[in-house]
Amino acid sequence: MISTVGVGMDGWDTRREKIVKLLSTGEPVSLDELCRMLGVFDRKIVLEDVSHIAQTLRKKNSKLVMLPPACLRCGFVFKDLSRPKLPSRCPKCKNERISQPLFQIK
Ligand SMILES: [Zn+2]
Repeated sequence: MISTVGVGMDGWDTRREKIVKLLSTGEPVSLDELCRMLGVFDRKIVLEDVSHIAQTLRKKNSKLVMLPPACLRCGFVFKDLSRPKLPSRCPKCKNERISQPLFQIK
């Protein structure tokens, strides 16, 4: 067997397993907290992982719950998101201060 310097798919699996652990503690975790704990500072990467995890969990007996982001000015809640994301502005008042989505695995 030849050993190469392979990060490849292993890196992905490890990070996703970590996310599952971090979200299974019973406390909701915000997107930025997740980024910080993982040492990944690209929110898009973490959000992609989270949506992937949500899909795999569906096949098991647990599920990923998202407390949706909300506008910090008018309180508009982004309830109907089909997948986890951090919206950049409020459709109602155009404010760009949006609260973080929180995630939890139940
Ligand atoms: Zn608003």
